[in-house]
Amino acid sequence: MWTLVVNCGSSSVKFALLRPTSGEVRLSGLAERLGSEAAAVRVDRPGERVTVPLPRGSYPEAFGVLLAELDRLGARRDVGAVGHRVVHGGARFSAPALITPEVLEVIRACVPLAPLHNPANVAGIEAARAAFPDLPHVAVFDTAFHQTMPEVAYRYAVPPAWYHEHGVRRYGFHGISHAFVAGEAARLLGRDLSELHLVTAHLGNGCSVTAIAGGRSVDTSMGLTPLEGLVMGTRSGDVDPGLHDYLAREAGLSLGEITADLNRHSGLLGLSGLTNDMRELEAAAAAGDERARLAVEIFVYRLAKTVAGMAVALGRLDALVFTGGIGENSATVRAATLARLELLGFRPDAAANARAVRGQGGRITLPEGTPALVVNTNEERMIARETQRLVVGDL
Ligand code: AMP
Repeated sequence: MWTLVVNCGSSSVKFALLRPTSGEVRLSGLAERLGSEAAAVRVDRPGERVTVPLPRGSYPEAFGVLLAELDRLGARRDVGAVGHRVVHGGARFSAPALITPEVLEVIRACVPLAPLHNPANVAGIEAARAAFPDLPHVAVFDTAFHQTMPEVAYRYAVPPAWYHEHGVRRYGFHGISHAFVAGEAARLLGRDLSELHLVTAHLGNGCSVTAIAGGRSVDTSMGLTPLEGLVMGTRSGDVDPGLHDYLAREAGLSLGEITADLNRHSGLLGLSGLTNDMRELEAAAAAGDERARLAVEIFVYRLAKTVAGMAVALGRLDALVFTGGIGENSATVRAATLARLELLGFRPDAAANARAVRGQGGRITLPEGTPALVVNTNEERMIARETQRLVVGDL
């Protein structure tokens, strides 16, 4: 079955038409700068890339271009379902859901938990349902995979009313990616996922680490929001919760300003004062830039500490999996992380690590130690799979 996967951000729509079983992609594209006059959609047709301007800059206009492209390919009739990435499903969704008016209401009810993401997801779903009124639409949640976390992992040590009345707990994100790479890692290892204890490190612009026991998330580094945990491109990750009060008094900053700084001007960008791009930081560090070197070192140190912490959640570690733009491409970050994790039994294979870049995954440790693997994530394919599974039963 051909499945259309749609991923709506606050000013963008990413889409792909693919077959979940084989991973074959027939059409893909990205609409960007929606809401502005500069909006345009880039369409990757078979063997060709075109850019179509979107003068109204709206979601319906972007879906109009998508429909025209499907017609051009004669593919509209082949689309069997639409799968939507939805960032926050709160505690209500532990699995993908067929989108009904009731489900859409629950996604709307999760807006306070993800004020930047869920409104865009809702708007995208509405535009897609208008464009494809006869197809089943499925919501696949970034939080759902982590709903298996035990209470010991998801509760914060805060007043109980915050939890019971306001849902203040850890939810975790990147679940679609963590679940996908765990399955791929099991295949690479030639083992059954149900018998493996894995730590997966999704390292992109956002970064998180998940402990996965028998295919189920048992702990993860992101929490109530995607700001908790590791150092990221522009996000701080963990800071002292006393920081807000201190900065409000000392620097006269508002809560909104502090939150914006923690989300947009911190992480690798904040530490280096240069960029959030790991490639550029590695080049700057190699050229002698001390702030870039320190930014990468702090990124790696916090990552290694978190991976070691996740080993506690698992009791035993069968493999560490690197994925995301940094995890899949930065041999430097992987080598430095493994060097800090000798206590977990990794024996790095420098040549294999250097080879594992640009889509070339595989094992980057020697046979005698704990395996570390590089696995390319494919969230679109995971969303397509989950969508097909829900619509027509098992694959
Ligand atoms: P993502 O959000 O998964 O697309 O990942 C984006 C991050 O991956 C950025 O920090 C990029 O600098 C980083 N990245 C992509 N390619 C490389 C590379 N060859 N070496 C180091 N980092 C890379």
